Amino acid sequence: MTRIAIIGGGPGGYEAALVAAQLGAQVTVIEEDGPGGACVLTDCVPSKTLIATSVRKQALLDAASLGVHFTGGGDGEVGGVMVDMPLVNKRVKELAQAQSADIAARLRAEGVEVVRARGRLVDPQVVRAGDRTIRADVVIVATGATPRVLPGAEPDGERILNWRQLYDLPELPEHLVVVGSGVTGAEFAGAYRSLGSEVTLVSSRDRMMPNEDADAAEVLEEVYRRRGMNVMGRSRASSVRRTPDGVVVTLEDGRTAEGSHCLMTVGMVPNTSGLGLEEAGVGLDRNGFIEVDKVSRTSAPGVYAAGDCTGVLMLASVAAMQGRIAVWHALGEAVQPLRLATVAANIFTDPEIATVGVAQRQIEAGEIEANVVKLPLATNARAKMQGFNDGFVKLFCRPHTGIILGGVIVAPRASELILAVSVAVQQRLTVDQLAHTFAVYPSLSGSVTEAARRLMQPS
Ligand SMILES: Cc1cc2nc3c(=O)[nH]c(=O)nc-3n(C[C@H](O)[C@H](O)[C@H](O)COP(=O)(O)OP(=O)(O)OC[C@H]3O[C@@H](n4cnc5c(N)ncnc54)[C@H](O)[C@@H]3O)c2cc1C
Repeated sequence: MTRIAIIGGGPGGYEAALVAAQLGAQVTVIEEDGPGGACVLTDCVPSKTLIATSVRKQALLDAASLGVHFTGGGDGEVGGVMVDMPLVNKRVKELAQAQSADIAARLRAEGVEVVRARGRLVDPQVVRAGDRTIRADVVIVATGATPRVLPGAEPDGERILNWRQLYDLPELPEHLVVVGSGVTGAEFAGAYRSLGSEVTLVSSRDRMMPNEDADAAEVLEEVYRRRGMNVMGRSRASSVRRTPDGVVVTLEDGRTAEGSHCLMTVGMVPNTSGLGLEEAGVGLDRNGFIEVDKVSRTSAPGVYAAGDCTGVLMLASVAAMQGRIAVWHALGEAVQPLRLATVAANIFTDPEIATVGVAQRQIEAGEIEANVVKLPLATNARAKMQGFNDGFVKLFCRPHTGIILGGVIVAPRASELILAVSVAVQQRLTVDQLAHTFAVYPSLSGSVTEAARRLMQPS
C-alpha cells in the first residue's frame, strides 16, 4: 500500500487526502491548527460568513427603494437597522469550527489519520511531526501562506489588525482604514461599510483591485463611493501607528488617514521556512514559494506541493485541484495537468465580480485575438424588478469560430451565474451554442445568453 504523508490540512492537503484514501493509499495528514486549514478557520470561510451578514444588511438598507420601510428602531442607524457585532463574530467563529469538524469527520470516515502537530521534512521520504517520525513513499507539502507584515505597520491585534484578528473585536470599528485594495481589502472594506463602519480604503494604485477586470473594478469603486466610502487612490501607506484612541496611517507622500482601527491587507507570504524543504532538495523561488510543475511535482523526487505555498493562484479551488492532481500523478492514475485558463473565480464584494477564462487586458495587449461584448445589467428586466442596476455581463469569443474564451459577470450572486460561462469555456462551446440555450425569463442569466446572441455573426 502506498504511504502518503501530507503536511498541511487546508484544501490543498485535505482534498489530496480524500482522493488518496479513495484510491486505497495509507494517508496521514499533519496539521498544526485544525482540518480545513487557514481557508476554513481564518481566511475564506470566516470572511464569506461575515460578508453574508453585510450583504443582508445592505439589502435591508436598500429595501426602501422597493417600498419596504422599517418602523421603530431608534438606534440612530439608517432605517433602524443595526448589527449585533459580537453575535456576528460568534457566528463566524462557530461556523468555521463546525466546518472544520465536518472535514475532520469526513477524513476519519475515509480512514485518513490526522496528526495534530507541526511537520517538517527530514528527507524526501521522512516527515517529523511532534514526537512522531512518519515514513512515506510520497510527501505532499500544502502549508499555505500567512498575512504579509509591512514593516512599520505591525499588527497588535487591537487597533492594527490583520484579517485573522478581526473576529476578536468586541464591537464594530467606528472608522476602519483598510490598507491595500486588492481582492481581500476590497471585500472587507465593502463588508464593514455595509455593516455600518466609516471606511477609508487606501490604495497604492490608480484604482482599487488593479489586477482585476478594469470595468468591474470601476463599477465597484463607484458603488463604494456612493455608499459613502472614502477611496484613496495613488496612496501608498508607509507606516501605521496607534494614537490614544485610534490609528494614524501615514502615506509615502506625507498625507495621513485617521481612523479607529486599521486593517492591513497587503498580501501573503508562503509558509515554507523551517520545513526542511531546501535541505530535502525542494526548490523555492526568490519569494519563497515552492516551485512546481503542472502536475504539482517539486524538484525533489516523490515530493509534491499544492496550494498557496506554491503561489500558483491563491484560491481554495486551485489548491484543492493541485492536491488531487498530485495524488493522481503519484499513484499512476490518468491525470490532466493543471489548466489555469479554465479557473472560475469570484470576488465577494457587493455586487460580486466573477470571472473565468481570458482577461480583457490580455486581449488589449494583443496576446489573444477575441471579440468582446459587454451588456449592462441596467437593461435586464429582472435586475430592474429587483432594484439594482450596477453590473454587467461581458463575454469574450474567438473572432471566426465563436468559441467562448471567457467572461466577467458583475452582479449580485455572480458566483452562481458564472457557471454557464465556465461550462462554455471548459467545453469549448461557441456563442451560437450558448445563444441557443434557454434561459428563464426574467432572469439575470438571460443576460448571459443575450451577450452570446450579440456575439453571433451571420453565416
Ligand atoms: C481573507 C481571504 C479570503 C479568501 N476567500 C477565498 C474565496 O472566497 N475563495 C477562494 O477560492 N479562495 C479564497 N481565499 C484563498 C484561500 O483561502 C486559499 O487559497 C486556500 O486557503 C489555500 O489552501 P491551502 O491548502 O494551500 O492552505 P491553507 O488553507 O492556508 O492551509 C494550510 C494549513 O497548513 C498548516 N501548516 C502550515 N505549516 C505547517 C506545518 N509545518 N505543519 C503542519 N501544518 C502546517 C497551516 O496551519 C494551515 O492550516 C481567501 C483568502 C483570504 C486570505
